[in-house]
Amino acid sequence: MSAPSVTPATSTPKTSTRPRLFTPGPVEIPVRILRAMSGIQPHHRTDAFRAVFKKVSEDLQWLHQTKGEVLIIAASGTGALEAAVVNFMSKTDKALVLVGGKFGERWANICKAYGVPYETIEVPWGHAIDPAAVDAKLAADAAITTVLGTQSETSTATVYDIQALAKVAKARGKRFVVDAITGVGVHPLPQDEWGVDVVITGSQKGLMSPPGLATVSIAPWALDAIEGEKLPRFYWDLRKARKNLPAGESAWTPPVSLMYAVGEAITMMREEGLENVHSRHSRLGAATRAGAQALGFTLFSKSPANGVTALEPPAGVDASGLVKRLRDTHGITIAGGQDHMKGKMIRIGHMGSYDLSDIYVVLGALEECVNALGHKGTGAIEAARKGWEHA
Ligand SMILES: *Cc1c(COP(=O)(O)O)cnc(C)c1O
Repeated sequence: MSAPSVTPATSTPKTSTRPRLFTPGPVEIPVRILRAMSGIQPHHRTDAFRAVFKKVSEDLQWLHQTKGEVLIIAASGTGALEAAVVNFMSKTDKALVLVGGKFGERWANICKAYGVPYETIEVPWGHAIDPAAVDAKLAADAAITTVLGTQSETSTATVYDIQALAKVAKARGKRFVVDAITGVGVHPLPQDEWGVDVVITGSQKGLMSPPGLATVSIAPWALDAIEGEKLPRFYWDLRKARKNLPAGESAWTPPVSLMYAVGEAITMMREEGLENVHSRHSRLGAATRAGAQALGFTLFSKSPANGVTALEPPAGVDASGLVKRLRDTHGITIAGGQDHMKGKMIRIGHMGSYDLSDIYVVLGALEECVNALGHKGTGAIEAARKGWEHA
């Protein structure tokens, strides 16, 4: 038998020895979390696992700063968005959807799929939603019962002012449901204090875990709103999740390994302190923006988020070429633009466990790439360090 063939070295060797993720989900998973989820796991209907379930449920209440209930479901983030719609809305409800990118559109598409009537407020990509415009719309259309919004619009790397939006919704007596999938663990969102009825997260973003676990956090005053005649629901029926919660159980088989992962992630956040987690992300955002701008990139968002940064390349540099070279030469995966921004934008994810050294890694590689692709740019690392220090 012949020996297995060995790939010959090419004339331009890769600079990397391992793949690195800088995508806005999934994100890199810290070793601690990988270790936490890699043990032999108990059956989910045992006291050992009930204790884990209860602990993670309490951890999530801490993370959301709510005295309500955080319901855990086995799904990607979109499953939790759908769960929120079918449990909080009925055929007689009407939604106001805040649209400034792909994830605002996703809310509208879920409404469409269930035949829920809705209006939209649309802003150009990269702009934040104006709370005054929401107020005007709510004043003009009394039929609207529910506002569906996003904290961090990942497709444009734009953060919305959830505190101000919640104030407007509350003053008009409307329910406010927020997709905070790239918001929680990055930007503050104290749910009860700000008066947000429902907050959604997913495991593969700020929670630093693999995909597959999503949560619906319901404020204390909104818990009973899932009762009664709503849209058709079975797997997503949160009444079943609520009923099982006090026993430390879920209605269906929970994502056991991911419960360990998310539990460890929140333990890490507790150790760092929630305020420190948020301020580290504001520094990560500032460092990334400063470094990329020094290289000649244009910041896409007028209200930049801190977990992901969207950038338009310097003139003459193709965004898709950058994404490809970063991956092929440096082993770094970032995201491109979506829809009309495809080929025109790059998105660098830096939510979760990232630190300034990680930003040096991605910006140093980015500097090599823009120069290789014909644009002269330097100084990314120095600018990033200043951005970090002054944030
Ligand atoms: C990632 C993400 C989602 C969920 O996407 P899934 O692929 O279903 O996990 C929803 N909203 C926002 C803002 C996101 O960034």
